[in-house]
Amino acid sequence: MVFTPREHAIKEIAETLAVAPCKEPELSNTQRSDMFGRDVFNMRAMRERLPKGVFQRLEQTIKNGAQMNPSDADVIASAMKDWAMERGATHYTHWFQPMTGTTAEKHDTFLTPTSDGQVISQFSGDMLIQGQPDASSFPSGGLRSTFEARGYTSWDPTSPAFLISGPLGRTLYIPTVFYSYTGESLDRKTPLLRSEDALSNQCVRLMRLLGNTSVTGVQVMIGVEQEYFLIDRRLYMLRPDLILSGRTLYGARPLKGQELEDHYFGAIPSRVMAFMQDAEDQLFALGIPVLTRHNEVAPGQFEIAPVYESANIATDHNMLIMEVLRTTAERHGFACLFHEKPFTGVNGSGKHNNWSLRDSNGYNLLEPGDTPRDNAQFLLFLAAVLRAMHKHPETMRIGTVGASNDHRLGAHEAPPAILSVYLGEQLTSIIKAIAGKQDGSPSWGSRTMEIGVSILPPMPIDVSDRNRTSPMAFTGNRFEFRAGGSSQSVAPINIALNAAVASALDDISSDLEKSIAAGVPLLKAVQDLLARLFQEHEPIIFNGNNYSEEWKKEAQRRGLPNYSNTVVALEQYSRPDVMKVFCSHGVLSERELLARQGILIENYVRTVSIEAQVALSLGRTSIMPAVLSWQKDLADLILSTRQVVGTDTPMPEETVFARLRSHSTALIEELDKLEAVWNELNTIEEPIKAARFARDYVLPRMRSCRAEADALEEIMDNRRWPLPSYEEMLWLN
Ligand code: ADP
Ligand code: MG
Repeated sequence: MVFTPREHAIKEIAETLAVAPCKEPELSNTQRSDMFGRDVFNMRAMRERLPKGVFQRLEQTIKNGAQMNPSDADVIASAMKDWAMERGATHYTHWFQPMTGTTAEKHDTFLTPTSDGQVISQFSGDMLIQGQPDASSFPSGGLRSTFEARGYTSWDPTSPAFLISGPLGRTLYIPTVFYSYTGESLDRKTPLLRSEDALSNQCVRLMRLLGNTSVTGVQVMIGVEQEYFLIDRRLYMLRPDLILSGRTLYGARPLKGQELEDHYFGAIPSRVMAFMQDAEDQLFALGIPVLTRHNEVAPGQFEIAPVYESANIATDHNMLIMEVLRTTAERHGFACLFHEKPFTGVNGSGKHNNWSLRDSNGYNLLEPGDTPRDNAQFLLFLAAVLRAMHKHPETMRIGTVGASNDHRLGAHEAPPAILSVYLGEQLTSIIKAIAGKQDGSPSWGSRTMEIGVSILPPMPIDVSDRNRTSPMAFTGNRFEFRAGGSSQSVAPINIALNAAVASALDDISSDLEKSIAAGVPLLKAVQDLLARLFQEHEPIIFNGNNYSEEWKKEAQRRGLPNYSNTVVALEQYSRPDVMKVFCSHGVLSERELLARQGILIENYVRTVSIEAQVALSLGRTSIMPAVLSWQKDLADLILSTRQVVGTDTPMPEETVFARLRSHSTALIEELDKLEAVWNELNTIEEPIKAARFARDYVLPRMRSCRAEADALEEIMDNRRWPLPSYEEMLWLN
């Protein structure tokens, strides 16, 4: 018997599935902890290798952004090169995050030819600090035309350099920012760094008003939970839709999905376990503190989360985690899928962003404190987040746009596109009391604390009833933003969060400054301001079920916007009030913002256009031939059977044939309609119009093609179906 490619893949998987014998762990815990950060040119390595003065000045640069002098840069570059070459590095690369959403790199060798025909290793301060990749094909949104294609990369000393092993040796990776010759940002790191500065400044300003004289800065801390799917690579290779567009464009619902919830937190399959351990060892060596691993809700879905770090580093680390997972999966015979919705009808993947603020004394500003002053401060920062979310929902929504995330947001598996904040009942009742909206004295324990004139409770925040449906949940000492997509960089979300909160803090400090100038005692001024803020922003608080239909209506009543898809969200980008949030704090200039809007719109159109082409080609060249050959066999069977049984005998085979033919005819027609709209899409010149057309005409036509194909998959000869099924992809690991 001849195997079809699908059967061949399944046979091979069955043979490799056999569980490898249990091994002693390769690394002891001590060895593992010694390994932590082994491949990173971190503070420890720098302290060991740099002259004391140089190290101290570099530390100042890292901590306070002090300018670095060129002679120090030469010393650092030379130490970095020696460290890397001792560990087998032959090349270095400036590693950056252009607006394609991924990372980019261009490798250069450390070796430079000399005039006498030899080579010497060379790496100067200039080479460390600045690079000039030929970057003409990275998106710039018109900030750089091809004739002036220069883009520059510049070392970001706050994120340490690291080594990556490839098949042919090791490379030194230097995290950099990427900008045009006019100095405008072409990446996602620059605005992130700017937004952290803006927020830090506003935090310090408010804390000074509250009498804190010791704080010098505030760091944004984030912990990123990364979800992903793992499927067998042999099946993946038979799915051009997964390879080219990251998601399945066809595929009948699996016979068994997540109904039994038997995958969630279940035992991790041994092959997957081997992959995870391998990936974690590499991440450990890269100084990425991986904390948890577990199965997720859908079959074949998993999550990895490192311990939280400063936002810039955590963002770089998330990019690295994705890269390490991807390459490790390949080596273990898997394909790692980061798309938000690889399988229709099965839960998609998100990326939760846990966000908090840490002051230079190590204190978490989102942690309720013990003294009245601490609590006043906590409540003011809480109010700032509420104000930011209530006043600037567009800003946050822009951080989550993308054709792929549209399949997930609001689809009863991820928060809706309507932004609201979950605080839990206890904190909400405190806030209502401060706002003067709660009758009688609320019942809280015996310990009370005072802010100004009113009596307030201590704040043991109850985190037990965490609401999984909220896009922005307070979880005791941090906010968890849950609308981000698994394939997306977390930079845009944090840029938006930081900018919006900085803007809210700015309002809050200005208000306080005015009251103080008018002679109002500080605590009284805080008390009054909190009451006003909590009154104004109460509508953004929602502790109920965000997935429900009632919430949609309620949110509308409260005036909370619902930018339900990427295109409407992107249309808000150029609104003056939205741009002001970024511009007035120096996070992004108007030109940079409009460039970004342009890139994101274009990206949306391209994504949908590629999907349409793949759907068309797969439908016509793989699915239809299989269907028609089965249809022909059925027709032959009916003719020959009819000869045998005679004309009077009813033949149920004819019903099967009729059903098959009705769907196959419909699929042929739907594919033609899809082609027609795709052709029309290509004639639309104005990007935003093309985006609207892609959303309103191309995507629905793709869904119609899919409906017919999926119906066919359910009744076809399984052996002849050209694509691996959902069951096979989701359960064979
Ligand atoms: P969940 O219950 O949401 O799945 P996890 O334990 O998987 O939570 O992930 C929580 C993430 O939040 C981790 O990355 C963790 O380090 C991070 N985290 C914990 N405390 C803070 C904090 N104060 N600020 C930011 N992130 C934090
Ligand atoms: Mg979470």
